[in-house]
Amino acid sequence: MALSTEILTLPPAGPGTERRLTVLRFTGNQPGPKAYVQAAVHADEIPALLVAHHLREKLIALDTADKLKGEIILVPYANPIGLTQFLQGWHLGRYELDSGANFNRGYPDLFEPVAAAVAEQLGADAAANVALIREALRAALPRQRPLAENAALKHHLYALSCDADVVLDLHCDYEATMHLYIGTPLWPAAADLSACLQSPVNLLAEDSGGEAFDEANSRLWWRLATRFPQHPIPPACCAATVELRGDRDVSDVLAAQDADGLIAFLTGRGFIDGPLPSLPATPPEATQLEAVDSLNAEHPGVLVWSAALGDEVSKDQVIGHLVDPETGARHAVTARTSGIFFAARGHRWVRPGQWIAKIAGRENLDWRKAGALLSS
Ligand SMILES: [Zn+2]
Repeated sequence: MALSTEILTLPPAGPGTERRLTVLRFTGNQPGPKAYVQAAVHADEIPALLVAHHLREKLIALDTADKLKGEIILVPYANPIGLTQFLQGWHLGRYELDSGANFNRGYPDLFEPVAAAVAEQLGADAAANVALIREALRAALPRQRPLAENAALKHHLYALSCDADVVLDLHCDYEATMHLYIGTPLWPAAADLSACLQSPVNLLAEDSGGEAFDEANSRLWWRLATRFPQHPIPPACCAATVELRGDRDVSDVLAAQDADGLIAFLTGRGFIDGPLPSLPATPPEATQLEAVDSLNAEHPGVLVWSAALGDEVSKDQVIGHLVDPETGARHAVTARTSGIFFAARGHRWVRPGQWIAKIAGRENLDWRKAGALLSS
């Protein structure tokens, strides 16, 4: 058993300042798989910070009891830049204020250099191919750390995670039920994660677009399988974005429950000695991201809901209104598909074009396109 704490620094943004990441590395008593968990890469996702805190406590206790196997890396705050971004008292995450760049987009894409490195060495043994690809991934990481602070942060996070078997990226939405984003090729194998977290909404995509952190880790595997169909290449990194409800859902009760869910998942995946989680016989329902409707405000107004988060709503059902204080009009917000109303904008004064509601439907929607499936 062993816990080591590593401090990684970012290039100073100016004289007299230097931000750092804290990396907790739990090394188990037996060799085994590698898991990587990070919290709040968008920064203003406080439920993720609290779940990571509870997970840290539980992992330290399990480590002390010598119950850990393999390697678990926990980055309890993944974005020290965003955690300090305040504007007139308001915490602003998601985008770097300097560049406007989304903190969860633009992770390294090492597909081509890895494909070139392994092309002549792949064989008939899937496990050997996985080991070969991970070695090539580590070798393909840029030798030089990027100069800019945000780019250096992304480099650190990806370098820590790229060769892991399990990558969990803990986020939250504005107002939401628990939901997961997972690569389609990982489903239903990853249904254990959904079951352990009791997630009612599971969103699948092969390519959401923008190189979000989870897909930067997982998508490379099915791209390689497509490039080299003559060799067995499994989707060897089970990566997921875990949306821990809404940003105000911050409580020790919820966070401890979610950390217990993560512990159960990690136990089932062979990282912890303990009772295996009991899983349902049939996997939970999952939704293609192309079937998720994102409703945008068509008018400025005060947003009021008549449907509740988690409700099953029907196509053409009025789920809320935008109230115009100038004219007194109440503009209906109408569902365009049937499914679960699982996420809503957190503030109630909205402008035209802002997304205000997400509904996980069951039929793909023709205005949803692969490669452009996430909010910007
Ligand atoms: Zn996020």
